[in-house]
Amino acid sequence: MPENLNFSLNEEQRMVQQAVEDALQPWLSRRDELREMARTNTFNDEMWQTFADVGLLGCLIPEQYGGNDMGLLALTLGFQKIGAMGLSSNLLLITCMDAACLVKNASDALKEKHLPEIATGKQRFCFAVTEADAGTNTFHMKTSARREGDKFIINGAKQFITGVDVADYMLLVARSTSLKDAENSKMGQYHGLTLFVVPTDAPGLTRQKMPMSFNEGLNQWQLFFDDVEVAADCVVGEADMGIMAMFNSLNPERILAGAIANGMAEYCIDAAAAHARERKVFGDTPIGSYQGIAHPLAESKITHEAAGLMMLKAAWASDQDWDSAKVGSLANMSKFLNADSAIKAVDICLEIHGGGGFTEELGFLDLWNGARLLKTAPISREMILNFVGEWDLGLPKSY
Ligand SMILES: Cc1cc2nc3c(=O)[nH]c(=O)nc-3n(C[C@H](O)[C@H](O)[C@H](O)COP(=O)(O)OP(=O)(O)OC[C@H]3O[C@@H](n4cnc5c(N)ncnc54)[C@H](O)[C@@H]3O)c2cc1C
Repeated sequence: MPENLNFSLNEEQRMVQQAVEDALQPWLSRRDELREMARTNTFNDEMWQTFADVGLLGCLIPEQYGGNDMGLLALTLGFQKIGAMGLSSNLLLITCMDAACLVKNASDALKEKHLPEIATGKQRFCFAVTEADAGTNTFHMKTSARREGDKFIINGAKQFITGVDVADYMLLVARSTSLKDAENSKMGQYHGLTLFVVPTDAPGLTRQKMPMSFNEGLNQWQLFFDDVEVAADCVVGEADMGIMAMFNSLNPERILAGAIANGMAEYCIDAAAAHARERKVFGDTPIGSYQGIAHPLAESKITHEAAGLMMLKAAWASDQDWDSAKVGSLANMSKFLNADSAIKAVDICLEIHGGGGFTEELGFLDLWNGARLLKTAPISREMILNFVGEWDLGLPKSY
């Protein structure tokens, strides 16, 4: 436990929440427009620029590179606020997690090329790790990076890569040493992954849209790398040691995903409580007075608060530069609790709104899709349980 345990936010953190709220307020009366953009997967350029203008894109970037260096806790609070207003932060999460990785691992030249433009909103990033035959088992990825002089040649395919069409660059994970050779090395399968910054319009890179059963303003893509050449100086961190660098993006990713879920839960709990206070079905009794309505909502409020504490602790620990594996544990726990809490909150919100909950106008069913997705991605609930069992409890690995 920290010596000076203190649950108050400082002035800077409160300012971030307020700035996000003020800047996004005008969107609350433009919900029809937002719904249409989500449905047609139209990227919201205007909101993106707002995220940059209020400093969210610069939170993890040092001042030297044009950021404001306010840290992950401030950014987490910003994400939470976006969700609590019923809005979506789509590519913001991915660009911020990639920026965190560049800050900690990239060469000075790469930092100078990308970070200032990320902070101003000019450069957007996506993240490409998932493959059809590897899925959750990242180490079995087949996309290969073969060194040839001062460049790498990339071949392979990725899937479920969000926002490639609206991103300028991707942070790509590829195998630079075969799994067989890696398994014979000291680090085993952890060896041999390399991270690259690749332009999304690189020659030899093609993409195919993946039709999804729900849309959230961004398309998902399959990517095909056919002898894509990437200069060796676009490697992030050390070649073959990408696993270390990757954690510097995955920990923020999970914390920010937890923050989105936490905000979403807050939005639903508030909407449900407001409706339950007003709606009368039998005589003059608001439905909120029935314990069948009040208790699940109260329970949702309790788990939401608890999950919020875990979110803040994980973000705080990351800002304090705690050991990356420990931050990873907290980040996973936060994502786990907040995703579960969001699913429950959306469900009770739908229940309390009765048939109205399913109308397009209220949009709660869209939030259901978003909350449910967060149970599976960016890391599934099962893999978090595996991780905690193995790393926090020292249990033997079963897979
Ligand atoms: C909308 C969307 C956006 C995405 N965006 C991106 C992106 O931008 N970039 C990117 O790289 N990826 C992205 N993904 C991929 C996402 O991270 C993966 O889908 C997710 O990590 C699960 O991998 P998988 O789909 O291959 O499932 P699989 O690996 O096939 O797993 C299927 C199920 O089996 C379970 N399972 C597997 N192994 C174990 C085990 N050992 N123990 C217990 N359970 C196990 C999993 O938890 C899961 O429930 C996105 C996915 C979606 C749906």
